[in-house]
Amino acid sequence: MNYQQASKILVTGGAGFLGSHLCERLLAAGSDVLCVDNFYTGSKSNVAHLMSDQRFEVMRHDVTLPLHVEVDKIFNLACPASPIHYQFDPVQTTKTSVHGAINMLGLAKRVGAKILQASTSEVYGDPEVHPQPEGYWGRVNPVGIRSCYDEGKRCAETLFFDYKRQHNLDIKVVRIFNTYGPRMHPNDGRVVSNFIVQALKNENITIYGDGSQTRSFCYVDDLIEVILRTMDTPSEFTGPVNIGNPGEFTMLELAEMVLRLTGGKSKVIHEPLPQDDPRQRKPDISLAKAVMGWEPKISLEDGLKETIAYFRGVVKT
Ligand code: NAD
Ligand code: UDP
Ligand code: UDP
Repeated sequence: MNYQQASKILVTGGAGFLGSHLCERLLAAGSDVLCVDNFYTGSKSNVAHLMSDQRFEVMRHDVTLPLHVEVDKIFNLACPASPIHYQFDPVQTTKTSVHGAINMLGLAKRVGAKILQASTSEVYGDPEVHPQPEGYWGRVNPVGIRSCYDEGKRCAETLFFDYKRQHNLDIKVVRIFNTYGPRMHPNDGRVVSNFIVQALKNENITIYGDGSQTRSFCYVDDLIEVILRTMDTPSEFTGPVNIGNPGEFTMLELAEMVLRLTGGKSKVIHEPLPQDDPRQRKPDISLAKAVMGWEPKISLEDGLKETIAYFRGVVKT
C-alpha cells in the first residue's frame, strides 16, 4: 500500500493512554495517522516511539476549537478519563466532551469521514441494573462532582446520534468500561495504577470505602482490538456498544491480587469513599460478541503482570 492509498486517520487524544495504543495499532496496519492532542493528561513520551514513522504526525490542538484537516476516519478519544483529572477543571471537561464532539462531527460532516466516539460506562452512573446492557438508560446525578464527565459524555452521545439522524453521518459509539495497561499515568489516581504504584513503593494501599464496590477491568490490547473492529462494521451498525471485560472484582480482591503479583509488603488502609462512587459495574457484552465476534482474551492476572512490569520501569522505588 502506498501513501496515497493508505487511509488517513485522525485520533484525538492520541497521546493519552488508550490513544497511544490505538495510534500504534493503526500504524502497524498501514494507515496514515494524525494524532491531535493538547497534552492535558497525555504526553509526547507516550508516542515518542512512533515519531520516526513518516506516516505518523502529532499536532498540538485543543478539540474545543475548530479543526480543519482532511481525513477518512476519526477516533474521538480526547477527554481526561480519570476522576482526579476530569474534576480538576470540570468546565473544561464538559467543553471537551461537548464542544469537542461538535467540532469533530462538523469535521466528519465536511469531509465525509466515519467517526467513532469513545464513550464510557459512566453513562450508566451508579446503576440499578446489573450487569449493564446498552438498553439501560442509567442513573446519573446531573449536579455532582462526576457530572462534568458523565453528562458531558451523555451529551456527546446525543450529538453523535443527532448528526446521524440529521446529516446521515456514519457514526459508531463505544461505551468503554474500566481499562488498564502500560502507559496509564502513574499519578492519575485510577485504582489499578494507584494500587500498583503503592505496592511497588511499599506505601499503604488506599481502599476507598469498605472495598466491596466492584469494577470490571479490561486489558488495553483487548480493548483496542474491539475498537478497531467496531470502526470496520457496516454503516447500519452505530452502537452504542459496551466494550470491556465482564470479569467482576471487588477493590479488596484487586488489592490482594496486586500485592501477590508484586510481592509488595504494603499495608491495606481504608479512606473515605468519594461522592457518587458507583457501587458496582460490569458490562453485558453480548452485543459486541454478536456483531464483532469479540470477547476479551486476557485475564486480569495476566494483564496485571504486564502492567506491573511496565510500572517497574517508570516508578522510582
Ligand atoms: P487519557 O487521559 O490518558 O487520554 C486522554 C487524552 O485526551 C490525553 O492525551 C489528553 O491530553 C487528551 N485531551 C484531553 N482534553 C483534550 C482537548 N480538549 N483537546 C485535545 N486533547 C485533549 O485517558 P484514556 O484512558 O486514554 O481515555 C481515552 C478516552 O477513552 C477518553 O475519552 C475516555 O473518556 C475514554 N474512556 C476511557 C476509559 C478507561 O478506563 N481508560 C474508560 C471509559 C472511557
Ligand atoms: N468544524 C470543524 N472542522 C471542519 C468543519 C466544521 O472544526 O472541518 C466545526 C465548526 O467550526 C462548527 C462545528 O464543527 O463549529 C460544527 O459544524 P457544523 O457544520 O455541523 O455546524 P455549523 O458550522 O453549521 O455550526
Ligand atoms: N479506588 C480505591 N482506591 C484508590 C483509587 C480508587 O479504592 O486508590 C476505588 C474507587 O473509589 C472506585 C474504584 O476504585 O470505587 C475504581 O476507581 P477508578 O477511579 O479507577 O475508576 P471509576 O470510579 O471511574 O470506575
